[in-house]
Amino acid sequence: MSRMEPVIGLEIHTQLNTATKLFCSCATEVGDQPNTHICEVCSGQPGALPRTNGRAVELAAKAGLALGCKVNERSIFSRKNYFYPDLPAGFQTSQLDPPICEGGGLEIVDEDGGKRFIRLNRIHLEDDAGKCVHDEQRGQTLVDLNRAGTPLIEIVTEPDFRSSGEVMEFLKKLHAILVRLEVTQGRLEEGEFRCDVNISLRPAGTEKLGTRCEIKNLNSFRHAGQAIEYEIIRQGGLYDKGEPVIQETRLFDPAHQETRALRSKEEAHDYRYFPQPDLPPVVVTPELLARLKAEMPELPEEVKARLLEEGLTAEQTDVLLDRRRAVEYYDLALKILNEPKRVATLMVELLLPACQRDDISPMDSKLPPEGLAALGKLMADNTLNRRAAYDLFPELFERGGDPAELAKAKGVIQISDAGAITAMAEEIIAANPDQARQYREGQEKVLSFFVGQLMKRSKGAANPKLANEVLVKLLKS
Ligand code: ADP
Ligand code: MG
Ligand code: ZN
Repeated sequence: MSRMEPVIGLEIHTQLNTATKLFCSCATEVGDQPNTHICEVCSGQPGALPRTNGRAVELAAKAGLALGCKVNERSIFSRKNYFYPDLPAGFQTSQLDPPICEGGGLEIVDEDGGKRFIRLNRIHLEDDAGKCVHDEQRGQTLVDLNRAGTPLIEIVTEPDFRSSGEVMEFLKKLHAILVRLEVTQGRLEEGEFRCDVNISLRPAGTEKLGTRCEIKNLNSFRHAGQAIEYEIIRQGGLYDKGEPVIQETRLFDPAHQETRALRSKEEAHDYRYFPQPDLPPVVVTPELLARLKAEMPELPEEVKARLLEEGLTAEQTDVLLDRRRAVEYYDLALKILNEPKRVATLMVELLLPACQRDDISPMDSKLPPEGLAALGKLMADNTLNRRAAYDLFPELFERGGDPAELAKAKGVIQISDAGAITAMAEEIIAANPDQARQYREGQEKVLSFFVGQLMKRSKGAANPKLANEVLVKLLKS
């Protein structure tokens, strides 16, 4: 039998970063009491008139620009009709033809290091449904409409993926771009970036697409990869046995690492799409497009290249890019202390771990970029040695304040006065004649003992480089 090749296409739903819903002014806030952010529009009352949120349109266009799509000057909303208890209007407001963006794509690097271009089919705007809450105790299903009407974009790719690795790579890259653009907050655990995987197999080297299954609602990159691996084996097994793949919707169960059938396409809906008569066309004027282009921030790939250019290590670059608003913090700190490596090191070793522990963005920490830069400056001009600076950090992070003043108050200003250090070194050598003899007999590692003693005597304030030099000189004399 010929080798079977996986063919995969994705549909990604991303929640747009807006304060209010797509067609009304209810808040998109999550976590509040059920049905507290609803009105006649988002609860689907007959006769209620929707109005399009301009910010959602801008965010969708921005995503399209960053992904190389053609952004249509004019697109329309359509009603996608189906019945579900959490969809009170009886239709979802979505876009069929034309959508706001068409074409475009994203280049990824596959497992073998080769570059692959994944084409996008389209990006369209739509609203989210509410939520059914199953109350086991009361034996009831309740409906919460707080999420109903929340703006989404759906990004649809062409069936260009050939492995789970490519899919995960693509999802990570797409997520990073959309978060960087602030198109979405991208919180995976809140379902703000979730994907449906369409997958089929075909004999390698042939063109015709096989029968596909669609695995719904994967909100983790890893689960998407695992679901694909499972499907490749399951569908491969069917081909081996000569059994047909049934076109159906499946769910991934992470606990059992398997996908299970949810519904077959026989029950598939006929959505009877038609233009939503209550809404005017979505218009993206050339002026708006020009403004969005001008406002476009550096994309993750560009930031990465710049940080490497500035002398950061690949690890530091990855960490800064990975944390929300860390690059913004870094850039601001650099305006005050133009030492990229020093700023990045302080962030990666001190600031970002502390922020992660407290679950805050560095921009919200009590130590602003100016403060971190000031601390770095004290190190650069030898006022503080590394150890003293690192010892001051926790207090600066907890309470903020001026690093120079805190250093003075704590008496940890670095001693770079050769006279003072020589005096301390002489005392220490005199008090430890055995170790001094060992050093003179050639046991050079005893030097670190003396350095340690001197740092201790100076309460950590001695300039370590100078301390080393002075000790070597005295011990050798
Ligand atoms: P639908 O909206 O009915 O799910 P679409 O034609 O919009 O179908 O396709 C949805 C996604 O499925 C796209 O990413 C597309 O590339 C992918 N796709 C379509 N047919 C196949 C197939 N036979 N195998 C794998 N992926 C497919
Ligand atoms: Mg689909
Ligand atoms: Zn509302």
